[in-house]
Amino acid sequence: MLTDVVVVGGGLVGLMTAERLAREGLDVTLVDRSEPGAAWSGIGLVAPALDGAAAPPLVDVVDDAVHRWPDWLVDADLADQLPRAAGVLAVAESPFHRQELERVRPRLERRYPTARWVAGGELAHVVPGLGRHIEAGIWHRDALRVVPHRLGTLLFASLLRRGGRVRWGTPVLALDVRGERVHGVRLPGEILPGGAVVLATGAEAAGLWPDGAAPLPLATQRWTEVVLEGVPPPSVAIVGRGRLVVPHDSGRVALVSATEAGDYRAAASAATLRRTLDAADLLPEVADGRVAAVTARLGPAMADGLPLMGGWAGLDGLVVAVGAGWHGLTLGPLMADVVYALLFDVAVPFNLGPFRPDRGEA
Ligand SMILES: Cc1cc2nc3c(=O)[nH]c(=O)nc-3n(C[C@H](O)[C@H](O)[C@H](O)COP(=O)(O)OP(=O)(O)OC[C@H]3O[C@@H](n4cnc5c(N)ncnc54)[C@H](O)[C@@H]3O)c2cc1C
Repeated sequence: MLTDVVVVGGGLVGLMTAERLAREGLDVTLVDRSEPGAAWSGIGLVAPALDGAAAPPLVDVVDDAVHRWPDWLVDADLADQLPRAAGVLAVAESPFHRQELERVRPRLERRYPTARWVAGGELAHVVPGLGRHIEAGIWHRDALRVVPHRLGTLLFASLLRRGGRVRWGTPVLALDVRGERVHGVRLPGEILPGGAVVLATGAEAAGLWPDGAAPLPLATQRWTEVVLEGVPPPSVAIVGRGRLVVPHDSGRVALVSATEAGDYRAAASAATLRRTLDAADLLPEVADGRVAAVTARLGPAMADGLPLMGGWAGLDGLVVAVGAGWHGLTLGPLMADVVYALLFDVAVPFNLGPFRPDRGEA
């Protein structure tokens, strides 16, 4: 059966994209090799780039994406169903890190009216008990937070309600490319024809690149999460240098760290586990918590830190939306808008150049 659009990948980016296209009346089929929910995880912060290390084009689109969220929640009929503002405190862990935060401060204060610099004794009013090495930070009181699994569940239901079809447990083996056009995807034992194909395969996009395309360097990150019980969660997410202490969905505390993965194994190593436990330096009282769960996941990220968004020169019918790394949830509605704009030939309101998926071919 011919479908208007095949979306490959049922992570949050793929689901947001499929739901957006179905909302516009397109006939959408989403295909994912995993079971529902396998990829609907993360901390769920809808937040700007806070660390000063992000590449400038990314910083701008993340800001754009954050500002799209309130309207997106309304358009997707989710405004009443998802929890809202939870706040984030990005803390300076060293003098160098402080300089970085001071660099991003003017931008944050300009674009987020409730974001402000906090230092010295004032920090304790935001979060009591912070590590002694923390001297300053940026507090963004109104940063949204959603529960990723709940968001995925709602989007999945919404996609079905709007007539979308979903095939879980079905790996896409290759794109069906004939001539200069993608005609669908190859599944085990069949071809699923589609007028267009959207690749939203997270960390594993490279396996489906068109034949002959230069592979873009992936810098996949491994996120390790340790959930602690028996200690009170902080009131806001505390973001340090590649490590976080956050209130967990279950009412417990989560320590999270991000490290370069360098391979496609999600399993946490002893070194990444130690680094994750060290995140308790941010809020020492949580170090007394009992370890309730440990999980590790691969995060899709590109070596240049920029996601891949856009079509492929010389190949019609393919749109790519992957590699969003640390900002995937935040960028989801914007990436869905970009896919929609490209499929309907509507102007994208920012320069897609730095994000082109075929930029490795230049
Ligand atoms: C611990 C952690 C915390 C995070 N916190 C935040 C946060 O606070 N804010 C934020 O904005 N972002 C956050 N992120 C990042 C965000 O969660 C991810 O960027 C986002 O979920 C990625 O979604 P995705 O849909 O692009 O990819 P994925 O979630 O990786 O989904 C890709 C899907 O594609 C499927 N797939 C892959 N290959 C194939 C194939 N060949 N055939 C069929 N299916 C295939 C996979 O099975 C998978 O379901 C966090 C991530 C982690 C791990």
